[in-house]
Amino acid sequence: MRSDPSEFELVAPASLQAALLLLKNEADGWLPIAGGTDLMVQYAAGALRARKLVSIARLPELRRIEALPSEIQIGAGATYTDLRRHPAIAQEFPMLARAANWTGSIANQNRGTLGGNIVNASPAGDSLPALLAYGAELILVSVRGERRTAYRTFHTGYKKMQLASDELIRAICVPRRFAGYLQHTRKVGTRNAQAVSKIAIAALARVEQGVVQDVRIALGSVAPVPVRLTETERMLAGQSLDASLIALAGHAAAGEVRPIDDIRSTARYRSAVVRNLVVEFLERLREPPRTQAAGSETFAQWNAMSQGEAESKIMACCGSRAWARAMAARRPLRDEAALLAASDQIWAGVSEADWLEAFRAHPRIGEKKAEQSAPKQAAAWSAQEQRNALAADVKIALTEANREYERRFGRIFIVCATGKTGGEILAILRQRLQNDDATELREAAEQQRQITQLRLRKWLQG
Ligand SMILES: Cc1cc2nc3c(=O)[nH]c(=O)nc-3n(C[C@H](O)[C@H](O)[C@H](O)COP(=O)(O)OP(=O)(O)OC[C@H]3O[C@@H](n4cnc5c(N)ncnc54)[C@H](O)[C@@H]3O)c2cc1C
Repeated sequence: MRSDPSEFELVAPASLQAALLLLKNEADGWLPIAGGTDLMVQYAAGALRARKLVSIARLPELRRIEALPSEIQIGAGATYTDLRRHPAIAQEFPMLARAANWTGSIANQNRGTLGGNIVNASPAGDSLPALLAYGAELILVSVRGERRTAYRTFHTGYKKMQLASDELIRAICVPRRFAGYLQHTRKVGTRNAQAVSKIAIAALARVEQGVVQDVRIALGSVAPVPVRLTETERMLAGQSLDASLIALAGHAAAGEVRPIDDIRSTARYRSAVVRNLVVEFLERLREPPRTQAAGSETFAQWNAMSQGEAESKIMACCGSRAWARAMAARRPLRDEAALLAASDQIWAGVSEADWLEAFRAHPRIGEKKAEQSAPKQAAAWSAQEQRNALAADVKIALTEANREYERRFGRIFIVCATGKTGGEILAILRQRLQNDDATELREAAEQQRQITQLRLRKWLQG
């Protein structure tokens, strides 16, 4: 049943203190709303029980991201876009940056907040395993003052948490102590973006001369709350990583969780995936990842090139000359995190004309040739990215929808096709035809951003 808007009241206090007073004076009366991406779904379904909503979306006190010497304090109202664009988060906390990347669509990322993800308390919340693995702490605030609590003890059961009705999460604190750790995250779902995860892992470890010095493994979607694999971690600490230890640890991990059967997967499937994910992480620890080894060679060559050569080399990843020029000017860049963060920052700052130039370097979905000549490598990547989109049964429908899109927006349709089937791409195309011009341009730019990130990673792999 749909909600009747006249039954609802929404206020937007100008300060955090005013919001807290409201929550204090009428506890249980007012419900905080941040980005609204969870609450508005409940509202639309007629399932929102609260009738009085206090908006905390614009409170500057909740939006700040502060890089202190020992930790990063992320305001609970920081959006996924804020997280993705923050250079220190991209560099030091890539598991959180990736989770922000995976969450929903660009519209979700612009509105949805980290605090909202924590309080929504879905076992499948994408940011939660990363927060658990990093040992994050929460600062909770009410008119009574502030208290600080470990995220690990915050969720106590399915949708249950230690948060009083007059309290807000003010900030999430992540310790800056993971330099030298290999960080690994993976979401197993129908696909990464716009899909609820079946299982997600966020794990990091420091290994010296083959011996595990410290290891932290967190999983989402295997229990009512995200879990740390403490027994498996204990088994690994101080040990030499060899094939038999990895096999034992995979087995231990699968035994340590008691996954659930639900509409998305069976418990048996989840146990097998847990073992595979842990083994994959440990294998990466044993052999320095190819991307890092190959990447260092690619960086060394690219950093040594002339400005012009470096621009044309990197244009295979994104066809905007302004972007390529600014990327080349940022050299020397030395690791993947720095490269990806620089790319995002530069892309967000270039003009619309530059975005359009990058779009023209792609072939139409389902076709081979781009409107403007693209580097050979870019054409090969386009073919790979579209591999799944070329099934004959959707090709005709895609051609027609592409034409309609071009009539409507005057340019080709851009989508990050990697991992999507032709049918999914067609559905996205039809949905995006409903967008107004400005929204669609931003959506296309976001898709190009994702394509560029994937291509930069491939480029590093050589
Ligand atoms: C189409 C779609 C796709 C999505 N995809 C994903 C996905 O891929 N991965 C994923 O994890 N989630 C996903 N979500 C869920 C949602 O976007 C996230 O959970 C988001 O982080 C919620 O944040 P919000 O600010 O919008 O929360 P809101 O809807 O505003 O609030 C959610 C809850 O948090 C409370 N709250 C918010 N901020 C605070 C605070 N500072 N202190 C105390 N309480 C607070 C609210 O009272 C409410 O109970 C998706 C949602 C939609 C609609």
